[in-house]
Amino acid sequence: MAEEGVAEEGVAEEGVAEGSIASPALVTHGRGEAVIQRHTITPRSPDDVLVAPELVGLCGTDLEIIDGTIDPAYIHYPITLGHEWCGRIVGSDGQLGARVVAEGVIPCRACRFCVIGQTNLCETYDEIGFTRDGAAAGAIFVPRALLHRIAEGVSARTACLVEPSAVVFRALTLANMAPGQKILIVGDGTIGLLAAYFASLWHPRRIDMIGGRKEQLALAQRAGVSRFTVDPNGVEDEYDLVLEAAGRPAAVERALSASRRGGTVVLVGLAGTGTTAGFDIDQAVNGDITIRGSFSYTSAAFRDVVGLINDGRVDPSFLITHQFSFARSDAALRRLRHPDGERGKIVVDLSDLSTTDPGDASRSNHG
Ligand SMILES: [Zn+2]
Ligand SMILES: [Zn+2]
Repeated sequence: MAEEGVAEEGVAEEGVAEGSIASPALVTHGRGEAVIQRHTITPRSPDDVLVAPELVGLCGTDLEIIDGTIDPAYIHYPITLGHEWCGRIVGSDGQLGARVVAEGVIPCRACRFCVIGQTNLCETYDEIGFTRDGAAAGAIFVPRALLHRIAEGVSARTACLVEPSAVVFRALTLANMAPGQKILIVGDGTIGLLAAYFASLWHPRRIDMIGGRKEQLALAQRAGVSRFTVDPNGVEDEYDLVLEAAGRPAAVERALSASRRGGTVVLVGLAGTGTTAGFDIDQAVNGDITIRGSFSYTSAAFRDVVGLINDGRVDPSFLITHQFSFARSDAALRRLRHPDGERGKIVVDLSDLSTTDPGDASRSNHG
């Protein structure tokens, strides 16, 4: 029983702690592959709620986790992947069957950051899919306080995009947004596309995008981009806001050079531990440019995105271009690693889990 917490004396079967659940899970040790295997999870607190994941989105960060290139301070191996997801409550009270999403960043609510709402900077970093098992599995335990109900009529395809949307929304709220602005997004991956889509909430004059692949044009247009180009010099100058979501040194340099005097540059793209970029120092100083990094999301940003989605004001589900069964997670990861044609968000559908034989060990080899 989840309500009894981690019962060390209560052994359920074969030395497994009471309350534990075993199910197939997409697990990685950070050595270049992720494998579906039987994996046991145990509630950490009496307040943990058991949820059955429905859809799990994959992103470049998952590849960094698989490859072991992610900053070691932000990962515990082995780990079940899955930090962008939605599911249905299976193990708790009157909310049985309710569709939910959960904040992945688990704040202590007591440290100097948490008490002022900067829960993304909590001193005890703990995040679903990074330091505790994620949702690419038959079951996941989530602290009750981090669950958010999804409104009736909102699809799983929409709900599973709350997490990356919260990353973007939080970054935009740092960006001195105002109506009528000229915005440049550098990067045409899901975060860049979501940034364009959510930036429309502030009624900008135009949103331009420097992408890496021309196949992303149609998605960019659906996200509200006015001008899409793969030529780094194919856009205007003097942007009020530049959001960098490519995570490459040249893209960061381009982002800084595209800002107007007094403009804001927000960096959300991760480039890999230790990667550095150069930029024109005098241009940044004389330009009075605000350079901001934005890490993950705060509880407030996550709640705001859930509200926007539940109210029907946004629906980013058009960004999902690929859906794979859980048994084909290896194919999903290959598609993520080797983009081909139009590619938005790639999701894995957990509804076939009952037929996935972990003994059949679908393997994802990358190297
Ligand atoms: Zn992600
Ligand atoms: Zn804290």
